[in-house]
Amino acid sequence: MGADNWAICPACRVTVIKAREKLYAKVDAAYGKKPQGDYIALLTEAEKPIKLKQTLREDYCLGVGIDGNFGISYKAYCTACKFTFEYKHEEVALEIADEYTENATADDPYGYNYQR
Ligand SMILES: [Zn+2]
Repeated sequence: MGADNWAICPACRVTVIKAREKLYAKVDAAYGKKPQGDYIALLTEAEKPIKLKQTLREDYCLGVGIDGNFGISYKAYCTACKFTFEYKHEEVALEIADEYTENATADDPYGYNYQR
């Protein structure tokens, strides 16, 4: 089954930014101390645009069921750094007496108990 969405991972983003900061520190340390060619090579590498891949798989569903309950379920998993996050919440959106929800399904919204 495919993911509902692919996004940029917040943990990977911070890792890339920290790596870039270390590279800029090397550039600063090299200034006036390394040969000009080495310095320019370091600076060029540090100034390369950062391209983050969408490695964060997101799966979710939400809605109000025929039983009147609202539910939301969200899972995120990064295929690169293994960061995970999960959130679930359920609450009653509409109070419905049991006699109206017993045995009811999306395919049989009345349930077999429904009789006139
Ligand atoms: Zn990640």
